Amino acid sequence: MRFDVLTLFPEMFEPVKTSILGKAIDKKLIEINLINFRDFSTDKQKHVDDYPYGGGAGMVLKPEPIYDAYKSIVDKLEYKPKVIYLSPQGKVFNQKIARNLSNENHIILLCGHYEGVDQRVIDEIVDEEISIGDYVLTGGELPAMVMIDAISRNISGVLSNESLKDESFSNTYLEYPQYTRPEIFMGRKVPEILMSGHHANIEKWRREQAIEITKKKRPDLI
Ligand code: SAM
Repeated sequence: MRFDVLTLFPEMFEPVKTSILGKAIDKKLIEINLINFRDFSTDKQKHVDDYPYGGGAGMVLKPEPIYDAYKSIVDKLEYKPKVIYLSPQGKVFNQKIARNLSNENHIILLCGHYEGVDQRVIDEIVDEEISIGDYVLTGGELPAMVMIDAISRNISGVLSNESLKDESFSNTYLEYPQYTRPEIFMGRKVPEILMSGHHANIEKWRREQAIEITKKKRPDLI
């Protein structure tokens, strides 16, 4: 899976290259290219924003640098990658969308900033707008990182298949509680059943726990 991110702040993406996703990059399961569309500004001061027509607060990202950055990617391709604009106005991101997008082989993520992006470039290049929740952030960089992380975990080989099986949002219920060593912590003991070695009983206990936890924490899922 190839991600091309159109952003004014590529340095913000360091965290997404560590840990599990760092390994996925090393194994060439995913590729993350950061494209600073300021490099495509043709004015001397490398401006990428301007005042909004009609007045109002803040600055709007100009269409040309974004379009030229996009063209620099797609002109080298024989197919059209999916283009997603991170926007608080988009469809709210969830596990199902992450799973579906993990079947794409190339996604371009456009990160807005300031008051947002000139509507004409959105109309020209964007296939879908996605929001990571009903709140407004200063830019699309954190949402792009959230999407890259959630999508990549669903790509075959990034995690073990077992990890995804009972995970929260992979089916109706949230995941059961997890325990590791030591056996007793602050007087709290690991549930006996988990040390019994009886796989069928453990499976049954975990399912019951998953149902209980979901009823308690997220009854809306059931
Ligand atoms: N003026 C816009 C509005 O009211 O809809 C908000 C612009 S926001 C301050 C700047 C940029 O942050 C947006 O262009 C978008 O890329 C990103 N952004 C902010 N909140 C987001 C969210 N919840 N999900 C995805 N992207 C978001």
